[in-house]
Amino acid sequence: MKKILILNTGGTIGMTRTDKGYMPDREYFRNALLNMDTMRAPGMPAWDFVETEELLDSSNMTVRDWNEIAGLLAKHYDAYDGFVVLHGTDTMAYTASALSFMLEGLAKPVILTGSQIPLCELRSDGYDNLISSMLVAAEGIANEVCIYFGGKLLRGNRSTKYSADGLLAFTSPNYPPLAEAGITINYNRKALLDSPREEFRLQLLEEVPIGVLKVFPGIQFDLFESIMTESLKGIVIETFGAGNIPAGGNALLPIIRRAFEHGSILTVCSQCPQGTVSLGTYETSSGLTAAGAVSGKDLTTEAAVAKLYYLFSKGFSKEEVKRLMEQDLRGEMRS
Ligand code: ASP
Repeated sequence: MKKILILNTGGTIGMTRTDKGYMPDREYFRNALLNMDTMRAPGMPAWDFVETEELLDSSNMTVRDWNEIAGLLAKHYDAYDGFVVLHGTDTMAYTASALSFMLEGLAKPVILTGSQIPLCELRSDGYDNLISSMLVAAEGIANEVCIYFGGKLLRGNRSTKYSADGLLAFTSPNYPPLAEAGITINYNRKALLDSPREEFRLQLLEEVPIGVLKVFPGIQFDLFESIMTESLKGIVIETFGAGNIPAGGNALLPIIRRAFEHGSILTVCSQCPQGTVSLGTYETSSGLTAAGAVSGKDLTTEAAVAKLYYLFSKGFSKEEVKRLMEQDLRGEMRS
């Protein structure tokens, strides 16, 4: 019988009402899980349960929490066939992206899930999300970091939270779902990652200073000069369309050039959820490459942020970080 480790990190699924609003409730969730008949029904894998030190609303997640989660997965890696990580939806796509880089040589399923409606409420979507995630983790077909939510299994580092209140809360706009759960769970085998060549290894992350800048019509880039200095190691810039910045961007290019010379890496992503950055297609984007920016192609902002943390934590030189930001490492971007 397959053996799955459930790791609870918090999130709506295990929250109860308080006078300040929903908050994670350790005792409630432990008991709910232990008393859920379906979790022991025939066909379910065997499972154990662990929790992070503090159960969080995922808006409070930090790099330290990613290290704790990844550390627990690594500690138990050999003893289990797969892992289900219960997590809040707000930053689930960031954590999934970070784990996909941190868990080098991963050859087992790590399925992040949660819910939009807590288990303690009627109509909670947590039951299906949890039970289907358990089955996906036990099947061992998708041996990568995934998000299972609302009937879809998505690649973690391609996902983004798409709805604040719908039950189909996640999409992966630039990559097809890895599986869809109807009456049966149907895998899109062509879309799955190949088995890794290297051994499993954990790479912890450092709290590298990273910034995200979204451009908008009328943006006064000079106002950002004081933050875009060498003390920001990585900058993700969310541009229009295929990588275009407003004409006032002339003010931006010297800032980028200076930041790059000081060792910062500026990665260009698109505000459009779907499609890819293609620097140089328009005059409004060609200056970015000349100034030392790298194309994030079809990376989500979540994956771009996580990848910058990862590459800097590995201690690569700025040239290596620049090269690897444009290279697909874990199925996070087109090659
Ligand atoms: N604020 C919650 C969280 O991300 C939302 C959720 O879990 O759906 O932890």
